[in-house]
Amino acid sequence: MEYYSRHISGLIEQLSRLPGIGAKSAQRLAFHIMNMPADQVGMLASSMTQAREKVRYCKNCWTLTDEELCPICSNAKRDHTQIMVVENTRDLAAYEKTGKYEGVYHVLHGAISPMLGIGPDEIRLKELMTRLQTEEVSEVIIATNSSLEGETTAMYISKLIKPTGIKVTRIASGVPVGGDLEYIDEVTLLRALEGRVEL
Ligand code: ZN
Repeated sequence: MEYYSRHISGLIEQLSRLPGIGAKSAQRLAFHIMNMPADQVGMLASSMTQAREKVRYCKNCWTLTDEELCPICSNAKRDHTQIMVVENTRDLAAYEKTGKYEGVYHVLHGAISPMLGIGPDEIRLKELMTRLQTEEVSEVIIATNSSLEGETTAMYISKLIKPTGIKVTRIASGVPVGGDLEYIDEVTLLRALEGRVEL
């Protein structure tokens, strides 16, 4: 026997595909949506569709952006000779929130993980190496997470860059082991950046 209308069941099913949303949460959200004013539901749906359609990767640093070049890459006041390498756009946002970093970024979209079968070709590493060949770069700051994958990635990148003669640094271990950058407070992030060591 069907408990719900086909449309509500369909909505519950779609919602339960989202990360962290189990069957119960999906039901709760579905009924909440049913009780929302129709125009608010419309806005929610269209902001999801629009974000999915319009957002793309910056052609330079690979962060998520609305333009061909993100606001950081197109800002002449930023120090384009300093590139901070992060695992994802959320980590970039964490450093931007400190308001103290003046360089630019490179977003890898992942980290090397032999256990999960993620190799150097699965992250945006080739794109970083291309930037180092075509741009005037004086320092690469590796700010991957201090997890096993983050450390593996940092070592791999530093070995790749070393022969080019470009200075490679790693953020200090003020960041707790296994800690995700996005959850760490700004003071700790700044301390990690200021205490970075050359590899
Ligand atoms: Zn960019």
